[in-house]
Amino acid sequence: KEKHYENIYIEKLPINTKNSIYILITPKEFKRFDVLYDYIKENIYLFITFSFLGVLFSFFISKYIEKLFRRRMVFEKVKNNNILINSVINSTHDLIFYKDENLNYIGCNKAFLWFCHKKESEVIATNDFEILDMKLATMLNNMDHKVLETNEIFVEEEWITYNDKKLFYQFKSIPFEYDNDLATGVLTIANDITQLQKEKEKLQEESFKDPLTNAYNRKAFDESIDDKLELYKRYEDIFCIAMLDIDNFKLLNDTYGHDCGDRVLINMVELINSTTRKSDTLFRVGGEEFVIIFPNTNLQNAHVILEKVRLAISEFSFIENKNVTISCGLTQASKDDDSVKIYKRVDELLYKTKNSGKNGITVCSEDLVYEI
Ligand code: GH3
Ligand code: MG
Ligand code: MG
Repeated sequence: KEKHYENIYIEKLPINTKNSIYILITPKEFKRFDVLYDYIKENIYLFITFSFLGVLFSFFISKYIEKLFRRRMVFEKVKNNNILINSVINSTHDLIFYKDENLNYIGCNKAFLWFCHKKESEVIATNDFEILDMKLATMLNNMDHKVLETNEIFVEEEWITYNDKKLFYQFKSIPFEYDNDLATGVLTIANDITQLQKEKEKLQEESFKDPLTNAYNRKAFDESIDDKLELYKRYEDIFCIAMLDIDNFKLLNDTYGHDCGDRVLINMVELINSTTRKSDTLFRVGGEEFVIIFPNTNLQNAHVILEKVRLAISEFSFIENKNVTISCGLTQASKDDDSVKIYKRVDELLYKTKNSGKNGITVCSEDLVYEI
């Protein structure tokens, strides 16, 4: 029996059923325990810190072991995969990858490993954020959640940067059953449609351009004016539009030929583009009629630029010993404008210039109309 007798500590250690050894701890030895006790008391924070670090360390070790265990289980599953299916998915350049219900990778094809510069063992049991860049991982993760919530197929197209190259991929995510249909994961097929997208964008761009002069066409103007009016009404982004018409162009064609007329149109577009600012856009809206949109520009400033354009054209030598001039109308967008109203107004202003001797600009500010 353990007992304290006036600072003497006795400990009984049984060695068999009958006999025991008694250890007698003398006051001197007892003192040693006192010292130890005091030491612990003085360094209590140190002990707490070490205990905390110990708990933390155990936590991470257990997480690591859990991950290893999970990986091992997934490997077992992957091993049982059909060899024929593997060889099929490895024969395509499309990226194929599939994840379990927790969105951890359970498999992928060689094209995907090549794409993300990883070995299969580095991909299995990880999630998108551990192996892909943030933007792509976020996009795929959002898509995967939608697939799991709705059990439907989702398709997204996205420009992504890969090896410093910009590529356009179509991602198709499909719900799939695994583990004997007990769980649903997400299978994604991604194909590189960069070439197709570039051609599509080029065609789209071309459909907004006039093939002769390479200026934007009427279709582009119709879209642009609607956008500008909406921005003006929503954010007070003021803008001006000018209409330009070549003076006596029919006569020029008749005198120097249609080809010469074409060259004048081409050179004039180049000259207007080089005289206006980058943000100003030129549209060829008719045979020898153009519109310029001056965004974020008030009437006075637009007038200064347009006058520069008019002067540059009248001084430019399109044809030897022949001056080519333009007549213009210029107006600023107002609150009750729509695309038809503003176009009609600027067209009327242009014809005011035509009727008063051509080679000039008529400017309109709401109820104020003046000619130069
Ligand atoms: P105004 O000063 O009143 O504007 O007279 P204008 O002769 O310029 O106007 P009109 O509308 O009578 O004639 C426009 C001419 O523009 C007729 C047409 O042959 C010519 N034209 C239209 N498109 C093209 C084109 O693409 N190339 C060439 N060379 N001429 C064109
Ligand atoms: Mg004309
Ligand atoms: Mg005309």
